[in-house]
Amino acid sequence: MSADWQFETEAIRSGIYRSSQGEHSEGLYLTSSYLFESAEHAAARFDGSDVGNVYSRYTNPTVEMFEKRFAALAGADKAAACASGMSAILGVAMAHLQQGDQVVISRSIFGTSTSLFLQYMQKFGVSVVQVDLTDLDAWRAAINSSTKLLFAETPSNPLSEVADINELATLAHAVNALLVIDNTFCTPALQSPLKLGADISLYSATKYIDGQGRVLGGVVCGSNELVDPVVGFLRTLGATLSAFNAWVLLKGLETLSLRMQRHCDNALRVATWLNENANVAKVYYAGLEGHEGHQLAVRQQSGFGAVVSFEVYGGKDEAFKVINATKMLSITANLGDAKSTIVHPATTTHGRLTLEQRQQAGISEGLIRLSVGLEAAEDIIADLARGLG
Ligand SMILES: *Cc1c(COP(=O)(O)O)cnc(C)c1O
Repeated sequence: MSADWQFETEAIRSGIYRSSQGEHSEGLYLTSSYLFESAEHAAARFDGSDVGNVYSRYTNPTVEMFEKRFAALAGADKAAACASGMSAILGVAMAHLQQGDQVVISRSIFGTSTSLFLQYMQKFGVSVVQVDLTDLDAWRAAINSSTKLLFAETPSNPLSEVADINELATLAHAVNALLVIDNTFCTPALQSPLKLGADISLYSATKYIDGQGRVLGGVVCGSNELVDPVVGFLRTLGATLSAFNAWVLLKGLETLSLRMQRHCDNALRVATWLNENANVAKVYYAGLEGHEGHQLAVRQQSGFGAVVSFEVYGGKDEAFKVINATKMLSITANLGDAKSTIVHPATTTHGRLTLEQRQQAGISEGLIRLSVGLEAAEDIIADLARGLG
């Protein structure tokens, strides 16, 4: 709306469309289709000579408000809202890949994203190579003339490894491939992959964008040229965002900045406490100075996010004891919620991997993952102290 607005203002003021009722808050348009004034008007909408709503699988005013606001926050020409984070990733893959193409993905991406590429894309003749997120030589070695897409998540889950987005973009662009960054963990409030050279940034809005564990959603951001084909596919597939979910997410954006700041502050306090605890063998959080990715995270992020992992001595039994000793934290695999969550990756999120794959990925039996929420940091720490002392 205004080129000079700061992020916090854009998050509250961008993209508002008001009906003749003059509602102050964003309207929720629960309608599957739209009326035309005449047969001629209907014909004009269908042949494109009149631009407007036809059917909510194509466009909906509430969804459009969310898309416009999100695009402003992500620094993108265009944002396409999707039914979930996975449909955002599928949309990008279907719009930009074809038989014979090669994709290079990092080994540490979200498990279902790995399945999408390995199990389904490969079935249609797209070859997939997995590399270590932070090993630039491995990325370089994997790329060839049929590479069309590089896909990474940074910081990674659950070990908070950080990849250099600018370097990955250089590698991708040398062979005319696209760099796609899943920016779910940072959100546009903490990291702008497009400004760092990525071609597409995408999001599971289910996590911090909603931030209160209510709805599923996804977003794909980039230039018109790259996002338009994704929109075309989503409209055909039907995986567009529902008006209700768009409305919830739109209101979520208004508090995104504040929430992310508090998430980050709490996460750093919890990580620092864990780091000083005698029963903790190692803490994985890029916000800690001792973490390998710390310097890079300082350069490319404005905050370190809220996923903190740590290893306890004594493997799975001890990890289970620490998890079971908590009384307040939610034992669930979800993350990005106001409520802090705790989970044992080796037997849940990464349980489908073989022991060898888990070792390769650095997921030990004593590893615990926290998604630090918005409760008082003292209370989160006190809950962890029940099992850790
Ligand atoms: C949850 C998640 C997804 C998938 O999103 P859904 O909304 O569950 O479909 C993709 N990427 C990351 C990093 C996630 O955390």
